Amino acid sequence: MQTYDVLIIGGGPAATSAAMTLKNRNKTMAVVANKAETGNLYKAEKITNYPGLPPMSGAEMAELFRRQLIDTGADIIEGRALSAMSMGDTFGVSVGSQFYMARCLIITAGTTREKLYPGEGEFLGRGVSYCATCDGMLYRGKTVAVVGGGEEAAQDADFLEGIGCTVLRFPQNGRYEISGEAKASTLTFNGESHSVDGVFIIKDTVSVTRLVPGLTYEAGGIVVDRRMATAVPGVFAAGDCTGKPLQLAKAVGEGNVAALSACDYLDKK
Ligand SMILES: Cc1cc2nc3c(=O)[nH]c(=O)nc-3n(C[C@H](O)[C@H](O)[C@H](O)COP(=O)(O)OP(=O)(O)OC[C@H]3O[C@@H](n4cnc5c(N)ncnc54)[C@H](O)[C@@H]3O)c2cc1C
Repeated sequence: MQTYDVLIIGGGPAATSAAMTLKNRNKTMAVVANKAETGNLYKAEKITNYPGLPPMSGAEMAELFRRQLIDTGADIIEGRALSAMSMGDTFGVSVGSQFYMARCLIITAGTTREKLYPGEGEFLGRGVSYCATCDGMLYRGKTVAVVGGGEEAAQDADFLEGIGCTVLRFPQNGRYEISGEAKASTLTFNGESHSVDGVFIIKDTVSVTRLVPGLTYEAGGIVVDRRMATAVPGVFAAGDCTGKPLQLAKAVGEGNVAALSACDYLDKK
């Protein structure tokens, strides 16, 4: 398995900026990137304060950034990074059922105004999973709920049915509660309870607080120093995920600094 110099999590402006700088420094890299539509930039009606470019919609600008990201030649891994862990001199990152390795990480996951369903955090790993292809086999022949809209949720539900699960499908929005004892055993949706062996929750993003262990946070952002280094050696962060101001120019500047710091870190090793 290839070990990249750098693996970037997130595919927005901060990631693009970091990837462009890493390319100039001849580093090998992969970018785990959700679809451009999931980023904050895509939602902006019009961007009028980004130097060098005329005013344009966030969606147009997000497409420009994504094209530039692809043009760096980085290996683009489409999907959500589910977890990252330190393995001594390297980091392992799981994306669906695939696993990738890198010498350092740059986190550019933006902000996730993610609200957990009651019971979700408590039963995560004990009947609650974010990945059907990773954990589905544990529930073969059992009754599972798939919570989420969109293509990925539909594909995951089909996959689970294909391996013999009875699948209860639920939309992303609604009132949920997951309960049980040692493991999750009941999903209550809009007041109606369903007995389940597992609950698969399919979201666009995974909160960074659960993505990389050991990071520290202040006012909702990952704590970084001026080099964009986090509390975990070899892990850098840039963009909205490091906190306010949530602005494009700041995200791009931080992506550049994080990439240069990652190069410095790699060169010293
Ligand atoms: C409505 C609105 C209007 C705005 N207007 C302006 C403006 O006028 N001027 C300005 O300067 N800024 C504006 N902003 C802010 C600007 O869009 C952000 O500061 C900028 O997009 C931050 O870039 P980023 O790369 O840090 O994060 P994002 O653009 O959010 O990109 C992060 C990407 O990482 C992906 N991701 C997250 N978790 C994972 C994971 N686990 N695995 C893989 N991918 C993951 C996300 O899905 C997303 O695609 C606006 C934002 C909004 C919402």
